[in-house]
Amino acid sequence: MELKELSGVGPKTEEMLHKLHIYTVEDLVEYYPFRYETLALSDWALVQHGDKVTLTGIVETLPNCYRFRGKMDRMTFQLNTGTGFFQISIFNRGFMKRHLTIGKEVTVRGKIDLLHNRITASDLWLSKLEKEQMMCVYHKVEGITTKQLQKLIDQALIKIKDVPDYIPSTLSEQYHFLSKRQSIEVLHHPEEKTSLKKALLRTKYEELFVYMLKMNLLKRQKHHQKGLSRTCSFEDVSDFIHALPFSLTSDQEKAVTSIYNDLTSPYQMNRLLQGDVGSGKTIVAIIAMYMNALSGYQSALMAPTEILAHQHYQNIKKLFKDQFEVALLTGSLTKKEKKEIYQKLETGKIDVLIGTHALISEEVTYHNLGLVITDEQHRFGVNQRSRLKEKGVAPDILYMSATPIPRTYALTLYGDMDVSSIHTMPSGRKPVKTVLKKNQEMKEVLSFMFKELKEGRQAYVVAPLIEDNEENQMENVEVLEKKFKRAFGAHFQVASLHGKMKEEEKKQIMEDFKENKIQVLISTTVIEVGVDVKNATVMVIFDAYRFGLSQLHQLRGRVGRNDLPSTCILMSDLEKERLDILTKTTDGFKISEEDFRLRGSGDLFGVRQSGDLSFKVANIKQDFNILLKAKEDSEAYLHTEEFKHNMDSGAYPFLQTLSQLD
Ligand code: ADP
Ligand code: MG
Repeated sequence: MELKELSGVGPKTEEMLHKLHIYTVEDLVEYYPFRYETLALSDWALVQHGDKVTLTGIVETLPNCYRFRGKMDRMTFQLNTGTGFFQISIFNRGFMKRHLTIGKEVTVRGKIDLLHNRITASDLWLSKLEKEQMMCVYHKVEGITTKQLQKLIDQALIKIKDVPDYIPSTLSEQYHFLSKRQSIEVLHHPEEKTSLKKALLRTKYEELFVYMLKMNLLKRQKHHQKGLSRTCSFEDVSDFIHALPFSLTSDQEKAVTSIYNDLTSPYQMNRLLQGDVGSGKTIVAIIAMYMNALSGYQSALMAPTEILAHQHYQNIKKLFKDQFEVALLTGSLTKKEKKEIYQKLETGKIDVLIGTHALISEEVTYHNLGLVITDEQHRFGVNQRSRLKEKGVAPDILYMSATPIPRTYALTLYGDMDVSSIHTMPSGRKPVKTVLKKNQEMKEVLSFMFKELKEGRQAYVVAPLIEDNEENQMENVEVLEKKFKRAFGAHFQVASLHGKMKEEEKKQIMEDFKENKIQVLISTTVIEVGVDVKNATVMVIFDAYRFGLSQLHQLRGRVGRNDLPSTCILMSDLEKERLDILTKTTDGFKISEEDFRLRGSGDLFGVRQSGDLSFKVANIKQDFNILLKAKEDSEAYLHTEEFKHNMDSGAYPFLQTLSQLD
């Protein structure tokens, strides 16, 4: 039902509601408070000077109200609480003035000044408070008050009688859940804590149940999904591994073995390889492609940026020597060059193709694509995955992610995937020393950088991130570039990278940085992923508070890539406490746990692309036990007649689309 069917909703209100992601009357019904407050009368015997109190009383004097700065007003009146007379003052409630007649019972909440018998009130209600009262706190946008929002929700509750309930009735009965309708009403109009708890539990369970149902369905499909079984022998793979300039860490070895088993089994691989930046995921991926090539199949490696694709290309070419044909497909190739690659690909002359999204574009036809690897997969959408499928190719898939999450979460949340984790860093890497600095300490930072640069080292500078605005990013980068040129320009080369540059230009700058022709590189988060410059030992991040902890951790992984001591400097005047954890640990799994704790979901792999993990009331971390229950229940439910029946009658429209994913 369209929003404008509600009274009081014009184009302007509609626009405001859109900002809250409310597009229909149905959305409004399920727009739940994000928090509840309990309002209870203060116990007068315990009230102290300066406390925040809630008191009921009767109006003793008619209110005075005066306006200032046009729209603002301040109202004062005397309140008799039975324990004394208080001067109440409150801002912007002038509209309530006519209700405040002498003798009227009201409730106020605010800060009490016992020396002057004053209360500076933040809230005023036109009734007395009998008992505890629950209050809803909604996320709001400017232009709509909580009251307006609640009125709209109430209208919506009357108009929409039937809200789909995704919990199967056997489970609803088993857990004695409130009905969906009941719980929605309680969530918007809670009367006491017990029923609110019940309503919250039910709603969380439903959200998590639906999520796990999707996951379990994907998983079930996976086990039915026939794949290629490779024929390569492990000896041949071992020979390749032994020829590497280093020996694998034990986690890398484990990952390699699992992948070998996946590739030689007759089922499709769907594996997540997770580990900190620099933990050595790429070499594992290369070994996987080697296995695949040995067995006569083509591989595609998708990188999120051209710079990275280029770097992978160089590495792989070096390792595969002339044994296999490796090609790089990027947007900056000429038409002719591209055409040549397409041809060689179609005839099977290319064994490994590396590139960005272009790898799965319309024009590309593979001879026999057997393996797709995506680096930092969260940059790739679900759509791209399904596009491959549409082309009639169902290759094995390996996702690499540098945002590790604890294994229990990974297994539960990505139920359709197998997970390999690399915990230990290759030996010889020093942990990066991390310090927090205020903006006013810039001078110190510059002199530290100067010292490092004089030693022959290089530095990254990450410019403040401005959301979705390339113009501004450029400006920021430019401002910083000027600043750093002024500071170091006489002795060192300073250059910058930003989103507006041509790929060629970016690549050239990266190349120059790699070869130490540039010593200070300023960029937005373009460098966030995978770039490997061993001589860089300093990373300075401006406005660090704007980033998630895991993201910062990834960024600092750009330095400390050899045995030189490295430093990451987080510049921030805000959120010192949150950032502090980075100065204390370099364990990416711990850091992502902390992100989890603070933000509910953290920078979870895949979240940005799917939105699947953005729950209305559930919090993956706090409600993990409910998640486990939902997981178990949904697994069992998939095998029941009830599921079959509900599915057939169209109870789960969101499950229909899932078949396109895998
Ligand atoms: P990731 O892809 O996980 O960010 P990389 O694969 O880029 O990490 O590895 C970082 C660096 O460590 C690379 O230069 C790589 O060659 C090197 N490396 C990987 N595995 C090992 C190992 N087992 N021992 C020593 N160095 C390693
Ligand atoms: Mg990498």
